[in-house]
Amino acid sequence: MTAPTAKPAVLISRCLLGIPCRYHGQLYRRGRRIGDAELVERLRAEYRLIDICPECDAGMPTPRPPTKIIEGCFICDGRDVTEVFRHGAEIALKLAKREGCRRAWLKNKSPSCDRRRGMCAKLLRENGIDIEGVD
Ligand code: SF4
Repeated sequence: MTAPTAKPAVLISRCLLGIPCRYHGQLYRRGRRIGDAELVERLRAEYRLIDICPECDAGMPTPRPPTKIIEGCFICDGRDVTEVFRHGAEIALKLAKREGCRRAWLKNKSPSCDRRRGMCAKLLRENGIDIEGVD
């Protein structure tokens, strides 16, 4: 009997799993449940999901004030938290390397995870990981 082939590991934004780790700390937003159960189910069939939340993993609380990117700096509640965001991104990269992830499904419109502007997405991409943005 042949051993079952291990599924490849991929990264996924933790909030897409329905965990209320977004800055507002809510499970529902504008009447809609946070997360994407359908996507998660589809991905689980094919991959081993490694969840990341760069902001929480770097020690930011939930809920937390929203962070804005202003002239390349990450500003939260008037404080420069760029280094905190960098730390969260590095934790995610370390995990991706350890698990051999080549792809990541990340939440759009987040200063960490957004495919275009997010600190974590940028670091992962620079290290050869393909990013799929999820609304
Ligand atoms: Fe979701 Fe990423 Fe924001 Fe964490 S940092 S709540 S995983 S979008």
